[in-house]
Amino acid sequence: CGIVGCVLKNKKAAPILLDCISKLEYRGYDSVGIATENNEINIKKDAGKIIDVDKKLNLADMEGDCGIAHVRWATHGDPNQINSHPHTDENQTVAVVHNGIIENYLDIKEDLEKEGHVFKSDTDTEVIPHLLEKYMKKGLNLEFAMREVINIIHGAYAIAAISKNEPNKVVATRKDSPLIVGMGEDAYFVASDSPAILKYANNIVFPEQGELITLTTEGVTIKDEHDQVIEKVVETIDWTP
Ligand code: GLU
Repeated sequence: CGIVGCVLKNKKAAPILLDCISKLEYRGYDSVGIATENNEINIKKDAGKIIDVDKKLNLADMEGDCGIAHVRWATHGDPNQINSHPHTDENQTVAVVHNGIIENYLDIKEDLEKEGHVFKSDTDTEVIPHLLEKYMKKGLNLEFAMREVINIIHGAYAIAAISKNEPNKVVATRKDSPLIVGMGEDAYFVASDSPAILKYANNIVFPEQGELITLTTEGVTIKDEHDQVIEKVVETIDWTP
C-alpha cells in the first residue's frame, strides 16, 4: 500500500529505503520488501510487520546504491512471502513494486503464459515485471518498456522499477494512485507520500497521470505521454526532525 524508490550517489540504498518505508506504515500493510541493484537484482521480502521481517531477513543488508521498497496491502493473492513485493521475472532482469490494482491482469497473464512466461505469485502485479522483461528483451530500455506497459495495463497504479541492465536508475509512473518525486543532495526519490522521504529530499514535485519519471545519479527527468520532457514546479517543504 506504499512504495518508495531511490537513486543515491555512493551510498547504500537499502538502509535508507527501510527507514523511508517505515514511515508509510500508517497506511496499513501486511507484507514488506526491498530490492536493490548492483549489476544484479537483490530482493528481500516477506509477510509480517516491518520490525519482524527485518529481524528475520536483515532488510538493510543489501549492496547497491539504487532500489525500491514496498509495504503491501494484499488485494490479489494472500499475504505471504511469494506474493510480497518486489516482484521479478524468471531471469531477475527487473524488480517492480506496485500500489494499486491491475484490472486486466488475468488476460495479460494468459497471453504471457502462452509466450512461455512462468508466474510464481497470485498477484496482479507480477504481470508488470514479465512485461518489462519481454520488452527489454526486444531491445527497449527500461523507460520505453515501461511506456509499453502503461499502454497495456488498466487500473490504478503507482509503479517503480529497477533493472540489472540499467544500473543506478529507477523508472516510475502513476495513474489513480499517489506518487511524489523528491530531490535532495545526491539523492533522488519517488514515494507514495512525502513524509517517507522528507528527511532525505525536501524538494518535491507532483507528477500527473501517465507521466514517466526517471531517477538517475544526475537527477530527475519527467516525460509526458508523448515522451516530451516537461518542466515541473518544485515545492520546497520545510522538514524538522
Ligand atoms: N494489488 C497488489 C497486490 O495485491 C498491490 C497491493 C498494494 O497496493 O499494496 O499485491
